[in-house]
Parts: sequence; structure tokens; C-alpha cells
Amino acid sequence: MIKDKGKIMAKIVLTNGQSYIAHERANDKKSTVIKVNDIAKATVFKSEDEAKQQIAKAPVKCKGYYLVDANTNKKISETANTANQTNTANTGSQAKTANQAKAVNAVSKSNEAKTAKAESASTQENTTVKRINFSPAQRTAVYRKTKGHCYICGDFVNYVDFDIEHRKPLAKGGDNKFSNLYCACHYCNMIKQDMLPEDFMEKITQIFMYQMKKQHNNGIMWRLGCFLMRRSIAQRKKD
Ligand SMILES: [Zn+2]
Repeated sequence: MIKDKGKIMAKIVLTNGQSYIAHERANDKKSTVIKVNDIAKATVFKSEDEAKQQIAKAPVKCKGYYLVDANTNKKISETANTANQTNTANTGSQAKTANQAKAVNAVSKSNEAKTAKAESASTQENTTVKRINFSPAQRTAVYRKTKGHCYICGDFVNYVDFDIEHRKPLAKGGDNKFSNLYCACHYCNMIKQDMLPEDFMEKITQIFMYQMKKQHNNGIMWRLGCFLMRRSIAQRKKD
């Protein structure tokens, strides 16, 4: 599960009222957008922005699809209206059943969250750079930067398969300038998501150290190696 420093992430799915947007990966190729009838198989987006980016990325496949909060099953853009209607309907009278009370509660909660989010979005709106489509020439330039190797794991990636990765994510103040763009394999791009490079490296190191410790039963050679590695990392941080 991905948690953004303790914050609870939104759960949003894309639907047209009948089917849901999901992703399918054939062999080791890039994942493709598909439509499924089962919400359990739908791709869950962690934010409205992420879901909207999906629509922007595949406008033809996502035509007629809209954002739905997977927890409340409410259409995101209509949440505010629905909440007002519900509130009006209940003015002066108490919710008669536990279910009604629960529904009102859920709507007002999601409304509060939406308001808070809208407020924070409006302050960020002017500073966040939008994702753009890169021209073939730009893609080629980025690909050549690391000679076709993923800048995160070092694997060679075929030109048709590589992702352009924003080293500093757009959501964290990054931009679309050449200096911020790198060739990445699809897996690394997916894992890194919107993490800052330093946070990502810290997490990867933590995973590596923990897994190695388990594999080596925390033996003396591992502890020695671990000590040297930690010292080297600390030294690099100082430099
Ligand atoms: Zn990679």
C-alpha cells in the first residue's frame, strides 16, 4: 500500500456507469488500458489529478468515463450537488434510518475532503506544471541521454518501451525541462510514481537492507558489509 506520509489516499475509479477503466499487462510489455465490468478489477487512482491524467493519456478509450469515489460510489463532479440536495431534503427533520444517517455522513465527509482538497489545489494551481506530450525529437533526446538505459535500475530499455520520467515529479514542483527528464523502464517509473528522488532512494535502500538482512540471517559478514555500506552512504550525504 502506498501511503503519502500518513495521509489517507483517495480511492477513485473511472466508469461510464457500466464498465470501469483498468490496466492489463501482456507479457513484459507496457500496460494497456482495458474496460472491465467488475469494480474490483478496476484501476484505483489515488487522486483526482491522477484519474484525470489517465483520461488525458487515453482520451479515446476514456470517452464518456467520469470519476467516481470508490468508497462512497459517488460521481466526483456531482458530489457537491448531491450533498446539497441531501441536506435540503433533511432540513428540519432527522434522518429516519441508520442507513440514511450513514449516507448523509459519508456525503458530508467526502464534501469536506473535497473542499479541503479544492482549497489546497487552488493554491498549488499556479505553481504546478502540467504534464505534456513530448515530440518524437524530444523523446529521442531524452532516450539518448542515458544511451537507452533506465536511469533508475540501469536496465537497457527498447526505444518503443521507454517512459519519460520526471526526476523531480511535477506534483512536487518539477518541470518539463530537458534537465528534469530521464529515460526509465516502465517498472521503475511505476514504482517511483510521485516520489522525490531522495525519498525514493531511501525507500529502495531500506527495502534492500531489510531483504539482505533476512537472506543472510543477520550473520557477521552481513553485519560488517552493512556497517561499511551505511558508513559510505553517510559519507556521501555529507559530500
Ligand atoms: Zn528501471
